[in-house]
Amino acid sequence: MEEQDVRSNLKVLLTRDQIRARVQELGKRITRDYRDKNLVLVGVLKGAFVFLSDLARAIDLPLEIDFLGLSSYGASTKTSGVVKITHDLTQPIEDKDVVVVEDIVDTGLTLSYLMENFKTRHPKSIKLCTLLYKPSNTIKKVPLEYVGFEIEDKFVIGYGLDLAEKYRNLPYIGYLEDDTKQGGDS
Ligand code: 5GP
Repeated sequence: MEEQDVRSNLKVLLTRDQIRARVQELGKRITRDYRDKNLVLVGVLKGAFVFLSDLARAIDLPLEIDFLGLSSYGASTKTSGVVKITHDLTQPIEDKDVVVVEDIVDTGLTLSYLMENFKTRHPKSIKLCTLLYKPSNTIKKVPLEYVGFEIEDKFVIGYGLDLAEKYRNLPYIGYLEDDTKQGGDS
């Protein structure tokens, strides 16, 4: 059966221009904060791949890039808190200044797991950067150093975020009007 294309039912939450401007600001801040440091950006797959690629180019420093694959939701419609590493880092982060780059922080369970896991690898420092943050859903509070936008509790898609693995390529962030919570993979 042919799946319905939801793009015509999407409301725009953040336009590509709003996102672009905010990513530039975050890039400038990180550039200032990490001068003379050993910066490595770690993108959380899959959702952060678009944000990370724009953010990295907005940072004027010789940085490293790595990725971590995490799956947090499984098949259920609510977060389980069970986080699985599906793809590990390719380089050690020992003695490096790590900035973890996430697409969205919802309950905080994914990043809280990741922080604990990364601490055992002895980085010099570790900070969190997320494009979107839904404060109303917090279960585990994690220290977010760089936040693009605080948003309401809506299921958003586009700019890396999926709806059943599709629509990650939308250049803006939108939501469905009759929004019921959807599961997805990081
Ligand atoms: P947390 O562990 O903070 O609850 O969830 C983080 C992960 O849940 C994100 O990396 C993302 O994969 C998924 N997620 C949470 N909210 C949304 C949303 O509104 N849209 C999409 N597409 N994924 C979401």
